[in-house]
Amino acid sequence: MQLEWIFRSLVANTNDVIMVMDATPLEEGGPKIVYVNPAFEQLMGYSAAEVIGQNPKLLQGPDTDDKTRYKIRQAMRNGKAIRTQILNYDKEGNQLWLDINLVPLFDEQGELAYYAAIERDLTEHKQMQSRLENMATTDSLTGLLNRQAFMHRAEQEFSRARRFSRPLSMVMIDVDHFKSINDEYGHAVGDQVLRAMGKVCQARLRDSDCLGRVGGEEFVLLLPDTPQANAMYVAERMRESLVNSPMRLDNLVLSITASFGVASLRDEDIDFNTVLARADAAMYNAKHGGRNQVKSAA
Ligand code: GH3
Ligand code: MG
Ligand code: MG
Repeated sequence: MQLEWIFRSLVANTNDVIMVMDATPLEEGGPKIVYVNPAFEQLMGYSAAEVIGQNPKLLQGPDTDDKTRYKIRQAMRNGKAIRTQILNYDKEGNQLWLDINLVPLFDEQGELAYYAAIERDLTEHKQMQSRLENMATTDSLTGLLNRQAFMHRAEQEFSRARRFSRPLSMVMIDVDHFKSINDEYGHAVGDQVLRAMGKVCQARLRDSDCLGRVGGEEFVLLLPDTPQANAMYVAERMRESLVNSPMRLDNLVLSITASFGVASLRDEDIDFNTVLARADAAMYNAKHGGRNQVKSAA
């Protein structure tokens, strides 16, 4: 058996990227790349001649995680193997997610001579993962957070507000007489109205604010670091903005209003659900008061 020839052919033909580098030095310019296989050239866009003699840092870029780099350097310093995921950049600057298996290669005397990186392209997998995560947390009609994701976020903000003794407010928003829009123009128009409603409400928010669609025509606004008076102001601006934003849908122009209930964190609240319940009660007060208005929790 011509094992050496077989191994050479395997490395040249494998789909996995293989890169071999010196084991030292880790500082002063770093180790140099001594070999890359054709799969490397194909994925990374560099020819072997372009990268041999270079530091593998060449493949990293602004979004490559510092913690991962540190972990890899520590493993190399200790002559250990490490398997992790790392963000690299190809020759054109495109981001590539790689599963990297970095293994020390010892010479016949047992001395650490080289490191080999065996890598697999995870980019598509990562993109799919982030699409799925997005789908799981987003309401597909409006693009806002869905109920579950909103509740999760609200729970986190509640704990944060408690921990740092910061104010926190919530605004419950329910479209007025929405059923009659569906009845008069059909469900599809109703859906377009909800989408437009989400846009109008979102337009006035800060980055830290968070809007979710928590029911059919019910939205909740979470306002971290915001006391009740400021939340009332935000809700009132939003109410006015809705009144002043007639929605142009195909050949229709529709105006909608909504009722708003505002509640803020109190000492006795044990979780955010009690705040939400007060906001809900305040919203019903706004309905009973004639709709198209903002009420604060009693
Ligand atoms: P009120 O002013 O008291 O809130 O009146 P309303 O008609 O808005 O209240 P109600 O809760 O009775 O009606 C809500 C309606 O919202 C009922 C349902 O048909 C409609 N709805 C719920 N989810 C959706 C949706 O995803 N798309 C559309 N088009 N309509 C929805
Ligand atoms: Mg409702
Ligand atoms: Mg309603």
